[in-house]
Amino acid sequence: MFRNKDGGSAWRSRFPEVVTCVRCLREKDTLEVDRLMWCKDCRAAARRRAAWWGWGVGGVAAAGLALWIWLVVRPSALVRGGWIATVVAAFWLVGRLARELAYGLMRYRNRKAVEAVPPGPTGMGT
Ligand SMILES: [Zn+2]
Repeated sequence: MFRNKDGGSAWRSRFPEVVTCVRCLREKDTLEVDRLMWCKDCRAAARRRAAWWGWGVGGVAAAGLALWIWLVVRPSALVRGGWIATVVAAFWLVGRLARELAYGLMRYRNRKAVEAVPPGPTGMGT
């Protein structure tokens, strides 16, 4: 994806510091793009999307655990605080794990974003 000074078409050789982000297909400064060819904006967007997955999966897991405790364990009022802490810890832990997994999966699949717009025939964009 890198274009050096000697290769590529004539107009591109004037912008040797520009690479195409594989995620949004926009041309970005080399400094903004990491080794997977994702630009800063795309990494932030993927992080946000992964965070939503984390909250969702963590919430479902915590709700399931709370239900299980409520129906199966039937804690007495004395130890209820400990179980609440357990549910909160599970929510945090599962949520964090799911977030990292979701982000890792997005990075691993390395597909372009759904909102990505391929550059026009000229390749110059706007
Ligand atoms: Zn991008």
